Order: sequence, then structure tokens, then C-alpha cells
Amino acid sequence: MFLKGKTAIVTGSTSGIGLAYAKVLAGAGAAVVLNGFGDTDAIERERAALAARSGAPALYDAADMTKPDEIAAMVDRTVAQTGGCDIVVNNAGIQHVAPIEDFPVDKFDAIIAINLSSAWHMMRAAVPHMKAKGWGRIISTASAHSLVASPNKSAYVMAKHGLAGLTKTIALETAAHGITVNCISPGYVWTPLVEGQIPDTMKARGMTREQVMNDVLLAAQPTKEFVTPEQVAALALYLCGEDAKAITGANLSMDGGWTAA
Ligand code: NAD
Repeated sequence: MFLKGKTAIVTGSTSGIGLAYAKVLAGAGAAVVLNGFGDTDAIERERAALAARSGAPALYDAADMTKPDEIAAMVDRTVAQTGGCDIVVNNAGIQHVAPIEDFPVDKFDAIIAINLSSAWHMMRAAVPHMKAKGWGRIISTASAHSLVASPNKSAYVMAKHGLAGLTKTIALETAAHGITVNCISPGYVWTPLVEGQIPDTMKARGMTREQVMNDVLLAAQPTKEFVTPEQVAALALYLCGEDAKAITGANLSMDGGWTAA
């Protein structure tokens, strides 16, 4: 329970990797703010389970990561209701797969807003509260696509490379204040986001589902295994500990060897 008394906001935590972060942070005693879209009853069940797990408050905030004013308001509400905003996990993300000439402009704008700009707005709102306490942890879910590219993912690759640059910049700005800023770069993690891009990739490349799984997704991952949300969350929990206080500005790969090639 080393995070007792701390509050963590996890963006995009109603599903996949974000929900796994929320569970481990609550398991370590943090008050957790769930965020993201989904079925109201399912979200309430997860929220209640997190409170039971942490013995601390667990909140749900529906802030839309495309809206800077809603992001700032979520941070304000969190501080008002729990007394702090000590850990921020920038995790909300979407994907769209298409060659650049067919890429819809509204999809491009949404990916940049949710996967990249929202992290900047979260940091802008949260850093003053962290500085006031002389302690903070900011963790962003980047991707192997923060380091290497794949065809047909121009907006996503651009956003994730940007997130890695933002991480380095804010790590430098906050280094003397007890705050660390890092990103985790998973390879393919088996979540609804990955499952959802299979039909588009089938269409774009004229492949079957099995071919997309083996020849596209796991083709890049030398271990030939998907990363699990729990493995990613365990690294985030480590980054919240005192043993990790010297790790800042890092982009930590967890990609089954993908970017070693
Ligand atoms: P997911 O689809 O399971 O979860 C995405 C979450 O973001 C959901 O909670 C969803 O409600 C939320 N979200 C979407 N739009 C939002 C908005 N406008 N405002 C607030 N919340 C919003 O996806 P996931 O695979 O768990 O992905 C989580 C993060 O991990 C993303 O940033 C993704 O790019 C990154 N990532 C995923 C993989 C992978 O293979 N799954 C690999 C590397 C990086």
C-alpha cells in the first residue's frame, strides 16, 4: 500500500491497458480517477471494485480528451475531491489505419487530440499541483510506434513520436521538483484497440484475419507473443515507487524485441 494518500488520474481507463493501470494503482492504495467512455453500469462496477481494492475513494470522470477545458476541469475536480493529483497516466488513445491519401481529416484530428494533445493539457494542469507537493509521477502510454513507423498509421506514429518528445521536455522542466516523467512503449498488447484495427488492416492489405494476426501484428514482435495489459501496468507501478525516482525522461520499451531489430 505504498501509494496510500496519493491520487492517480488514468485517462482512457474504462478498457484495456488503462483499466489494468487503474487496478494496480488502486492495489497499491491510491485513490484512482477512472476516465473514458463505455457502458455506465460496467464503469460503475469497475469504480466500486477499485474503491474496495484501495480502501480509498475511486471516482469516475467523463472528461473528453479532445476537449482541453474538460481536461483542466477534471484535474480541478480531482484536487477538490481528493486533495491532490499526484500521479497522472496519459493513456487514452484511438487508432485509424489508412494510406495518407485516403486518411479522413477528422480521424487525423481526433488521433492527434486524444493520443498527443490531451497529454500536454493534462501535464499543464497537473504539474503545478505536483510541484506544490514536491512529488509527482507522470507516465504516458506511448508505443513502439514512438520509435519506429508502420505504413498506413501516419497520424498514430506522428502522435506517439510527439508524446516521446513531450515526455523528455517535461522531464527536464520538472526534474528538480521530485517529479518524474516517463513513457512506456509497448509492442502489440491484446486489447480492444488492437482487435478493432484488424478489419481495416484486412481491407487495406487484402488479408485474412489470421494473416493480419501473424504476418502483420506479430510479424514485428520477435517473441511472437502479445504483451499483456498487466505487464505494462506492472512497469507503471514500478515507476511510481521510490526506487524509480532517478528514472525520468525515459522511453521504456516493452515490445518483445520489436524495436531491437
Ligand atoms: P482501448 O481501446 O482498450 O482503450 C482506450 C481507452 O481510451 C478507452 O477507455 C476509451 O474509452 C478511451 N478513450 C477513447 N477516446 C477517448 C476520449 N476522447 N476521451 C477520453 N477517453 C477516451 O485501447 P488500449 O489498447 O488499451 O490502448 C490504450 C493506450 O495504449 C493507447 O494510447 C494506445 O495507443 C496505447 N498502446 C496500445 C497498444 C496495443 O497494442 N493495444 C500498443 C501500444 C500502445
